[in-house]
Amino acid sequence: MLILGLESSCDETAAALITGDRQILAHRLAGQEAAHRPFGGVVPEIAARAHVEALMPLIEGALSDAGVSLGAVDAIAATAGPGLIGGVMVGLVTGKALAHAAGKPLIAVNHLEGHALSPRLTDPALAFPFLLLLVSGGHCQLLLVEGVGAYRRLATTIDDAAGEAFDKTAKLLGLGFPGGPAVEQAALAGNPYAVPLPRPLKGSAEPHFSFAGLKSAVSRAVDTGQWSAEDIAASFQQAVVDCLLDRTARALDRAGDATALVVAGGVAANQAVRAALEGLATQYGLRFVAPPLWLCTDNAAMIGWAGAERFAAGLTDPLDIAARPRWPLDPDAEAVRGAGV
Ligand code: ATP
Ligand code: MG
Ligand code: FE
Repeated sequence: MLILGLESSCDETAAALITGDRQILAHRLAGQEAAHRPFGGVVPEIAARAHVEALMPLIEGALSDAGVSLGAVDAIAATAGPGLIGGVMVGLVTGKALAHAAGKPLIAVNHLEGHALSPRLTDPALAFPFLLLLVSGGHCQLLLVEGVGAYRRLATTIDDAAGEAFDKTAKLLGLGFPGGPAVEQAALAGNPYAVPLPRPLKGSAEPHFSFAGLKSAVSRAVDTGQWSAEDIAASFQQAVVDCLLDRTARALDRAGDATALVVAGGVAANQAVRAALEGLATQYGLRFVAPPLWLCTDNAAMIGWAGAERFAAGLTDPLDIAARPRWPLDPDAEAVRGAGV
């Protein structure tokens, strides 16, 4: 089985060719950091236009890297949401056009399912069910992954996502964009216990997350002029790690049949986060699985792989399927959130 994966939901344009037996035949990616840097964050219109320009050459490049033609592909998997709607539409419409032209099935992939299943691309031994900490730029959730398309959300953030907190902290510290890797780098030279910062929701009964108060506390710490950027970065990162660890431990107490603790999404690229979670998994006698760094942040290999998992399960989509700016992995949990969680 050969799947062409397409990703364009935020500020990475990507195309990849993935086989059903986990070979990554090609993966190409074009970032847009330079285009967004002057604005200190992703500008949706700039992103959408950049996707339009970058996507077809990336697809042609990936096909050429893999030495295959579109005719050899079994299905085309494109991110259909959630994300910036203009960008999502570029990838999805391109996927639909290629599927129609080549007479191939389309698989509309939830970007979060791409992150969620990405650890299984590089770890064939990772079996369902597993507890997933999904920590990215737009999401911070704990999910019990019971199978392809079967996600039970145990917790979410009540305000900001963890990646968003990294990005805002980087901005406050003048470390530039994108923020996560810059904060991690600065933190290496700082004292993680120099600045007293809160651990929102730590110790609370439900395993939910909150990062807005932490961000405000970082802002106040910057304003005092009392600490170096390195000390603030290290202390902020430590506070995030403490919160992630405490909340994940609470969820593990409820995920009795999980076979592994898994982390995915952009923040999973952070070494301090990975190390802390690995320790927690050991404490619970569980395997710890994290994708390689390049597979944590947005890419098309994870979309191709989610497509492969869905295709193997007989799941394809009609060509008139709509792009979705919001698309929860667990619709039941979203209904609960509407009620105030
Ligand atoms: P979502 O997947 O929720 O739609 P997204 O696609 O924008 O959001 P990802 O690409 O998965 O998010 O992750 C990007 C986020 O990860 C950014 O907020 C970035 O700052 C953060 N990030 C990337 N690398 C690191 C790192 N080394 N340490 C901490 N955070 C990081
Ligand atoms: Mg990005
Ligand atoms: Fe993402």
